[in-house]
Amino acid sequence: MSRAIVFAIAAIWAFGPAVAQVTVVAAGDIACDPGDSAYNGGSGTPALCRQRATSDLAMALAPDAVLLLGDNQYDFGALSAYQTAFATSWGRLGAKLRPAPGNHEYLTAGAAGYFAYFGAAAANGHYSFDLGGWHFVSLDSNCAQAGGCSKGSPQEKWLRQDLAAHAGMCTLAYWHHPRFSSGLHGDDAAYVSFWQTLQEGGADVVLNGHDHDYERFAPQDAFGTAEPARGLREFVVGTGGRELRPFVQISANSVRRLVNDFGVLRLRLRAGGYDWQFVTEKGTVADGGSAPCQGPEGETALMLADGRFRISATWRHDGLAGSARPGPEATASAGVMWFFDSSNWELLVKVIDGCALNGHYWLFASATTNVGFTLEAVDGQSGREYRLEQAPDAVMKPLQDTSAFPCD
Ligand SMILES: [Zn+2]
Repeated sequence: MSRAIVFAIAAIWAFGPAVAQVTVVAAGDIACDPGDSAYNGGSGTPALCRQRATSDLAMALAPDAVLLLGDNQYDFGALSAYQTAFATSWGRLGAKLRPAPGNHEYLTAGAAGYFAYFGAAAANGHYSFDLGGWHFVSLDSNCAQAGGCSKGSPQEKWLRQDLAAHAGMCTLAYWHHPRFSSGLHGDDAAYVSFWQTLQEGGADVVLNGHDHDYERFAPQDAFGTAEPARGLREFVVGTGGRELRPFVQISANSVRRLVNDFGVLRLRLRAGGYDWQFVTEKGTVADGGSAPCQGPEGETALMLADGRFRISATWRHDGLAGSARPGPEATASAGVMWFFDSSNWELLVKVIDGCALNGHYWLFASATTNVGFTLEAVDGQSGREYRLEQAPDAVMKPLQDTSAFPCD
């Protein structure tokens, strides 16, 4: 007796809605003291005190907001120095400035120059705001002066509540001292609690300064374990103008390190994802990439092609339904997913970068299951969505789509 096999497979293009996109520029470690021998009337020298050039660059990028990552004004963050060196360089960005304080700000007691110069924009040292569908959090990493940074400190408790009140949004947090750095200051465990709270709250990106270089890390947890789907992606952007310093000891998960140019981080932010570029003082792009936000269902997604594509699936069986979860085995381009038991893999999914071959990312998938499911792939860069429906008790024809997603 033969049984008719019902086979249904459909791939549907769906273009995400046109969403507002905002541009944010970030840097720290910026303006020399007017008394510095390299200050040179604000123009600096070729290697030092380039705050005028980096602020020219920041203005040319026409940002919607500018995130200041601390040590904005050397040497002591005095109000008079702010009013001279910072005001005539980055200060020209005016109301777009969203500051965080560095250790040099606190070399003036209570960071009085910083708080006087920025006024309401500095709040009481930490604050948050929303822009372009993103949630931004500015923290004060000068722990002793900020009442502590550890779990249960006033600032950490505020952070936890603030994130809970903005659950589900793409979130970027920034402060001066990096948790992870290959630069002079190295990794700093003082910021483990910030990191844990941010990760638990579903945040996506962390920006820091303090080390005078540019560094990008792969998504990781508070202790430096790579977590492609749920970790925070950290950037160190201490290239605001003061000086550059070489890397010392390479930290785990460090994927890009630049030390030859001053410059700024340019972020293009949209609902569901972001692009980053490190733009040098010369106007060249020295690093770049894209990623989707983690989203509240991050644990149920497989992130492929350097985090650009979010793969998820829902299954239906015996009147029940659930979300597939990523298995323990994954590479940059391929991973498995399970439905009921982490030892029982049901799906193999691959996203292959075929940009050099035919201008597309290729989507391949196969199933070892008789359970019905819906597989969804989302391009975090374009917002494009690809969906495949598989009926229960059917044999899935392997998906081999070499034109699944245009590269740009
Ligand atoms: Zn610093």
